[in-house]
Amino acid sequence: MPLIKSWLPSANVPECPFPLNNLPYGCFSKHEADGPRYNGVAIGDCVLDVSAMEADGHVELSLLPVFANGDWCDFMKLGPDAWGELREWLIRGLGETSLERAIFEPYLISLRDITLHMPFTVNEYTDFYAGRHHATNVGTMFRGAENALPPNWLHMPIGYNGRASSVVVSGTDIVRPNGQTKAQDEVLPKWGPSERLDIELEMGAVVGSGSKLGQPVSVAEANEMIFGYVLLNDWSARDIQAWEYQPLGPFQAKAFATTISPWIVTKAALEPFRTSTPKREMELLPYLREPGPMLYDIELSASLKPEGAARSTRLCRTNYGEMYYSAAQQLAHHAGSGCAMRPGDLLGSGTISGATKDSRGSLLEMTWGGQEPLTLETGEMRRFLEDGDTVTLDGYAQGDGYRIGFGECTGTILPAVNFAREGVER
Ligand code: MN
Repeated sequence: MPLIKSWLPSANVPECPFPLNNLPYGCFSKHEADGPRYNGVAIGDCVLDVSAMEADGHVELSLLPVFANGDWCDFMKLGPDAWGELREWLIRGLGETSLERAIFEPYLISLRDITLHMPFTVNEYTDFYAGRHHATNVGTMFRGAENALPPNWLHMPIGYNGRASSVVVSGTDIVRPNGQTKAQDEVLPKWGPSERLDIELEMGAVVGSGSKLGQPVSVAEANEMIFGYVLLNDWSARDIQAWEYQPLGPFQAKAFATTISPWIVTKAALEPFRTSTPKREMELLPYLREPGPMLYDIELSASLKPEGAARSTRLCRTNYGEMYYSAAQQLAHHAGSGCAMRPGDLLGSGTISGATKDSRGSLLEMTWGGQEPLTLETGEMRRFLEDGDTVTLDGYAQGDGYRIGFGECTGTILPAVNFAREGVER
C-alpha cells in the first residue's frame, strides 16, 4: 500500500511517523500539564483535537459523547464497526482531496504545544514470555542450558498477571524499586534498592472489545478484539526476580513500573505489515492455531543515555516478527479458561530478542547476567541501569514511502526511596 496523501504537508514526508496511513490515538492536555485532557489523533506534526470536534457536533459515533473524558476506552467499547467508521472519516477529512478541510483545519494543534498522557485507562495488565530467544537466554542463565525452555513453553504462551496501577506513559520518571534480594553466596536475604535494574523491550496489545465470563474465544475472534498496539518497556529488577520467582513467577520485580508509548497504533494501520509466526517446533493444540498471519513486521530498537551525556548509545535492534506467539494467540489462551477480558486490558508480548547478540531486548541478555559489561559511546560501562540513565524504545513499520511510527517510549531512573534500609525506622 502506498502513502495516502494529506493536505497537511508535514504528513507526507517519508520519515514522518504519523502519515495519514497511521492515525494513532492519544490523549493530551494543552498549556499546563495538569489541565483538562482531550482525545487526539496524530497527523504529521500536529494532533487533531477530536474531543473539541465532537463537542462542536462534527463527530457522531454514538448517542453519547465518547471523547469527553480524554481516554480512548469509551470509544473502544463501541466495537470494530465504529473503529472502522472513525478511521474512514479521518482519512476522508484529512486526505488530499478532502472537501472538509475547512472543518478539520481549525482543530489541528502543533505537537510542540501539547503534553501527552496515558492514551487509555489500563484495566488489567498481563505480561507474557513469548519470545523464544529471550526465554532460551534467560532460562539458560537461571536454570542451565538443558532446562532453558520450560516443558510447557512450546505448547502455550506463558504469562503472569501484572499490575495496571503502575503502567505509565512515556516520559514518566521511574523510581528504582526497593525489594528483597539474596546473593547466592549469602545465607540470609537483605532489603534495599535493586542493584540489577533492567529493561524489557516489548510490544503491548490493547484489548478493545471484551469477552464474556466463562466463554472462550478463538484466535480469529481474539484478533478482532484487539484495538491496537503500543511499545512497552517492562522494567525489571533481576535480583528481586531471581529470589522471588519460584514457584509463582515474577511479583515485585515487575510490579513497580511499566512504560508504554503515548499513541495507540491501530490494527488497521498495521494491516499491510502482517507477518507469520515462525514454524512450530511442536504442533499447537487446535485452540491456539492461527487462521492467518498474526504478527507484524515492526522494527524495534532501544537506546540508553546516561545522565548529562551528549548522546545516547543504541543498545539493540530487533523486530516484533521474532515472537513465537502472537498477541491474538495470547488473548485466545488468556480467555480460554473462561477468564473475561475487558476493554482496556493490556497484554505485554514478552521481551523481543533476536538470534544475534545485538538484537537482545534486555540488559540481562546483552551483558549475559552482568558478566560481559557494555561499553557506551561515552566510554562508560553498564551491566545494569544506573540512577540518571534514560532508556528509550523506538519502533516503526516501514511502508512504501511512508512509516508507521509509535512515538518514543522513554523513562529516566531516579534513585530508590531510602526506606528502612537498615531495619524498620518508622
Ligand atoms: Mn516482560
